[in-house]
Amino acid sequence: MHYKVEGILIRKIPHKERDLIGSLLLRNGKTISGVFYGGMGGGKKNKPSILESGRLFEVGFVHKKKELGDGQLVSFRDYSLKWTPKNIRTNYQAFYLLNFFLEFISKVTFQASLESLDDGENEEIFRLLSNAIFYLEKSVTDDLFELETQMLLFLTKACLELGIAPSFRNCGFCEKQLAISNLASFDFENGGFVCSECAEKGRDFQNTKEMWVYFSQVWFKKYSEYHSLPKPTLKTSEELFTGTLRQFNLSRSDFKSTNLIW
Ligand SMILES: [Zn+2]
Repeated sequence: MHYKVEGILIRKIPHKERDLIGSLLLRNGKTISGVFYGGMGGGKKNKPSILESGRLFEVGFVHKKKELGDGQLVSFRDYSLKWTPKNIRTNYQAFYLLNFFLEFISKVTFQASLESLDDGENEEIFRLLSNAIFYLEKSVTDDLFELETQMLLFLTKACLELGIAPSFRNCGFCEKQLAISNLASFDFENGGFVCSECAEKGRDFQNTKEMWVYFSQVWFKKYSEYHSLPKPTLKTSEELFTGTLRQFNLSRSDFKSTNLIW
């Protein structure tokens, strides 16, 4: 049967001399991996490769069986570019961040099944990544790029969209309503943000406050409205990232792109 899908290229590795193995994040939030024959470009006509990570493609493939085995590759027959960021590569920090977004998404998503290529089950994951890339590109184009802001924004949004957000409206221990005035610490594994009465004393809570501001504001806003968020420290996103890893049973060593950021 012939399939046609649209997805963002989130991972690619060279295969044999001229081929590429690539994974796409589909609109349904699942991934599909396959071989792009001749995908490295080159050859007699020295054809350039359009298969860059972070780009959106429409891809056709044929698969005879009804099912796709775990980790099985399909053969991508034809593919065309639907959208590409143009300026992210001109800013090395933005480019590192793009790679982090793609790596993060590839760790928290699952392989699609052939019967459910069109379902909208986890479309928020696709929306998360496509918005993150689109607004990263826009921030570079508009000369407003801030690594700290884009990183914390992505991680906050990821926690919310993936359903693992810590409790930020009420204290994780006593349920008291939280505000910037009684907010005291952050404990992802024990429920989330903690009020000043329940928190252990004597810690520096600057990161907690920055993170809480993001959670409480990002919840109500669209990606396009986030330009008004205050610039956090990079340490704050690192703390949130560490907490997020534990939710997925991942460790920092599973990531390559993080070494260039934190
Ligand atoms: Zn409390």
